[in-house]
Amino acid sequence: MFDSLQDGLRSAFKTLRGQGRLTEANMREGLKMVENALLEADVSYTVVKDFMKDVSDKAIGQDVLKSLKPEQQLVGIVQESLVDILGGDSDPSLHLKPDVTVLMMCGLQGAGKTTTCGKLARLIGQEGKKALLVAADLQRPAAVHQLHVVGESVDTLVYSEEGASDPIAVCQNAVKHARDNGIDVVILDTAGRLAIDEELMNQLKTIDLKVQPDQVYLVVDGMTGQDAVNSAKAFNDALELDGVMMTKLDGDARGGALLSVKHVTGVPIKFIGVSEHMDGLEPFHPDRMASRILGMGDILSMFELAQREFDQEQVQKTQERLQKGQFTLDDFRKQLNQIARPGLMQKMLGLMPGMGELGKLLQGGDHEKEMRRLGGMIDSMTPDERSNPKLIDNSRRQRIAKGSGVSPQEVNELLKQFDSMATMMKGMAGGGMGGAMDMMRK
Ligand code: GDP
Repeated sequence: MFDSLQDGLRSAFKTLRGQGRLTEANMREGLKMVENALLEADVSYTVVKDFMKDVSDKAIGQDVLKSLKPEQQLVGIVQESLVDILGGDSDPSLHLKPDVTVLMMCGLQGAGKTTTCGKLARLIGQEGKKALLVAADLQRPAAVHQLHVVGESVDTLVYSEEGASDPIAVCQNAVKHARDNGIDVVILDTAGRLAIDEELMNQLKTIDLKVQPDQVYLVVDGMTGQDAVNSAKAFNDALELDGVMMTKLDGDARGGALLSVKHVTGVPIKFIGVSEHMDGLEPFHPDRMASRILGMGDILSMFELAQREFDQEQVQKTQERLQKGQFTLDDFRKQLNQIARPGLMQKMLGLMPGMGELGKLLQGGDHEKEMRRLGGMIDSMTPDERSNPKLIDNSRRQRIAKGSGVSPQEVNELLKQFDSMATMMKGMAGGGMGGAMDMMRK
């Protein structure tokens, strides 16, 4: 995410490395490079100007802290200003009401609105709430069908009316249907256009007026840079947005839109799209994003992701078994299954400090192949062998290798890896992933 921005900032901080203290002279050079990195990332000019003023004021006014090196000091100041520019302490809560909450989703065609509706429904489902997707885009003939496909893939009901031509009526009927059927959250997938036009805005304004959604969100494509910011401005003028959901930040988006939108429009970013898959929507936290941009990782989001995406019952069971010192190859196999999903491993690595590079190396699915290889070997073992790997002698090793299409040496390596992992896991029984996640829950 935002590779060149990260590189640019890193170089800026590097100029201060080895310097004894933060002075106006050495800081000026560092700040100039920060400014260039932001401009190259397509951050809007007014944002860069305000940002640089903020950073310079803080840096110049700051007493030289003896305990901090100039580089650390500037990183600290830049981080603080980044958090501010990204929205301060705005949080991604959907503020669900006890009865039905209606969310209206808007956006230009291709921004990722329908996909984001599905991802959001999936997150809501994971919270134990019932969502209803509403096909209110009657402009594009294929849109209703697309929403049904998306709904099916995230196990969420879709409300549509065949042959309907009035999106307002569809929305109103859908909200009534939701009230009658114990639905918690209604997500209105409204029509998009290739560009903003009056007819589109009028339609959206009428839905807003007549259906009275609790929240109105705009989905924008983060790859389109300042166009995304401009469309956020126009939609906000017409609809008073509650938040922006910015998609496609997994691609080579430079970061300009992400860093500009709140400062330019006043509308906070609530969620970001980080993959085309249905699990690719992340709640947006300005402080965590600032750390990520500065290459300091985002451990909190990583644990939350693990908590959302891993089968918690399974995590609990593994933890109980660990506490009893019973970690077997079967448990290992189940853990592999949980993590060997497209993109998940890479996403987790991307959130770890300094792991962005490793995540990139893993792109292309090699790690998934590796996990399939490991899984294949475990699948070729008998239940007895899985719970007691010590049974695996030479002839059993040959059989497992043959069954899974690998060499006996590879089986050996797996067993060795498993052995040291089991020792480590037993050592931190009660801790580990499960324990860490318990910590996050508190
Ligand atoms: P809509 O016209 O606004 O409803 O856009 P769609 O939901 O149909 O999305 C347009 C395209 O963008 C599709 O190919 C999606 O798979 C893709 N897309 C949406 N969100 C993301 C994202 O966060 N990352 C990536 N890589 N692709 C996305």
